[in-house]
Amino acid sequence: MYTPPLARLIEQFQRLPGIGPKTAQRLALYILKRPEKDIEAFAQALLNAKKQVGVCQTCFHLSATSICDICSHPKRQQDTICVVADSKDVIALEKTREYRGKYHVLGGVISPMDGIGPEQLTIQKLVQRASEDEITEVILAINPSVEGETTTLYIGQLLRPFVKVTRIAFGLPMGGDLEYADEVTLARALEGRREL
Ligand code: ZN
Repeated sequence: MYTPPLARLIEQFQRLPGIGPKTAQRLALYILKRPEKDIEAFAQALLNAKKQVGVCQTCFHLSATSICDICSHPKRQQDTICVVADSKDVIALEKTREYRGKYHVLGGVISPMDGIGPEQLTIQKLVQRASEDEITEVILAINPSVEGETTTLYIGQLLRPFVKVTRIAFGLPMGGDLEYADEVTLARALEGRREL
């Protein structure tokens, strides 16, 4: 149906999340119509992002530098850490502009079914950070799924002996996702946090 290089391009698009065969075909045909320099810039951006973006050594948020912009920002509150499962949750919370503290990205949630225990996440480093003198509050902002709940309770138990631990109130149903919450809901959830 397609000449081989075009088939390979369509196949690559189809591997992306949320892209079906029709969209993959449309994108591939669009690419063929673009000037070569646009495509070069696109390809270069893909490679550069992959090569240059790693994680912050402190909070594990995606960053092209060893310490991310949030961790190194002098005006961010130094005494609060907000714990999230994934970098996309940091981005969602930043969009609310409600939160001025720091973050900690776990890299997932505890899920024995998927073989993810506490040691696969950045929990040890979180305990280390939370035990530093300047930290007065740790806010847990993990998606309210069964695994998220397990993770929240586990971390709460670890940190409670030496720091105030709160969790955000969800105006979201169980199984909801921080990423898809609108900004107002997310901002309210943050305001309505309570001690764990
Ligand atoms: Zn950081």
